[in-house]
Amino acid sequence: MSIQDTIIQAFVDQFDTEPTFVIRAPGRVNLIGEHTDYNDGFVLPMAIDRAVWLAVRPRAADRVFLRSLEQVEPTDFALNAIHHTNAGWSEYVKGMAFMLQRAGYDLRGWEGVMSSDVPIGSGLSSSAALEMGVGCAFAAVSGFPFDGVEMAQLGQKNENEWVGANTGIMDQMISANGREGYALLIDCRDLSMRATPLPSDTLVVIMDTKTRHSHTESGYNERRMSCERAAAFFGVSHLRDVTVAQVQHAKLELDDVTLRRARHVVTENQRVLDAIAAMRMDDPVTLGRLMNASHASLRDDFEVTNDALDVMAMLAQATPGCYGARMTGGGFGGCAVALVRRDSAETISTTVAQQYEAATGLQPDMFVTTATAGTAIIQL
Ligand code: ADP
Ligand code: MG
Repeated sequence: MSIQDTIIQAFVDQFDTEPTFVIRAPGRVNLIGEHTDYNDGFVLPMAIDRAVWLAVRPRAADRVFLRSLEQVEPTDFALNAIHHTNAGWSEYVKGMAFMLQRAGYDLRGWEGVMSSDVPIGSGLSSSAALEMGVGCAFAAVSGFPFDGVEMAQLGQKNENEWVGANTGIMDQMISANGREGYALLIDCRDLSMRATPLPSDTLVVIMDTKTRHSHTESGYNERRMSCERAAAFFGVSHLRDVTVAQVQHAKLELDDVTLRRARHVVTENQRVLDAIAAMRMDDPVTLGRLMNASHASLRDDFEVTNDALDVMAMLAQATPGCYGARMTGGGFGGCAVALVRRDSAETISTTVAQQYEAATGLQPDMFVTTATAGTAIIQL
């Protein structure tokens, strides 16, 4: 049974009637542009065919009730008394309500069920998908339009201020605004977007190493601090405004670690722009090379890969039909992404999975995806 059918069935079982709205909010994979969003830089993600699904209906009481098929405890709270209770996943739901109200929206209550096939904590952004899905549910039942950019901003505020994760805006932007068949170049400074089609006859393979970040919080925050330190050194607010030449010239004055962190961000921004140029030329070979270079930079300069990600990317890169591969997401575990020839996607998945298992003893999860649409109400 599809996940769509599953949640509709679960809704009917629980409420004895059909849902009023069914909503799909996708996870995402970033093709290139990693750790650039919080540096006001460029990213190039696409929405994937793994998503959070919600089936909901409005209710008279000003309360929200949501059951996740993946969680034991449902979320249940009053819209006029939203408090922090540190109740795990509920905080993502309450935080969206809080941020929408703070932005001036008059919210109506609703109830429903949700389910997701975006793996948690693997770098495909199950949290942003959940936030955008919940935001869309509030828009649908309260009768205001879903504004993809504003909702992304509220989702990031939720994650930063309510949930307490110091993340950038890429995940929410792509989950909210994804477009079928296209990757989205996002300028994280002004949130402008340009949809760019994937090269013809290519597919994207997502390769879950099955390793998860354990102490990422500190690693991630440390990287952010290095970037801030480097920006201050160059006298700018964000590394977006620093050139590759400037970083090279700073070699003697800047400590080695900060220099390498800055070099990753600055060269990665350039790689995103080069990637867009390659896509415009329908050139998967150049795009793939840029992805390989991105992985090397994340491994050697930014140091956010782990052995599993390095092995996975290397195996994919060496397989015929693969144009390029790199880690994707925050790093320290999770998924790698490969750009492959359409007719090789299945073979590459199988081959790389076998080799990865032989090398690491871990059983990876591979799946082929196209670029899908962003968060929306699904017409049944
Ligand atoms: P990711 O990289 O997948 O976004 P995060 O740690 O940022 O990982 O977010 C994962 C959190 O999002 C989970 O711990 C949970 O609170 C929430 N979440 C994700 N998927 C679901 C789901 N299917 N049901 C309920 N909560 C979910
Ligand atoms: Mg997340």
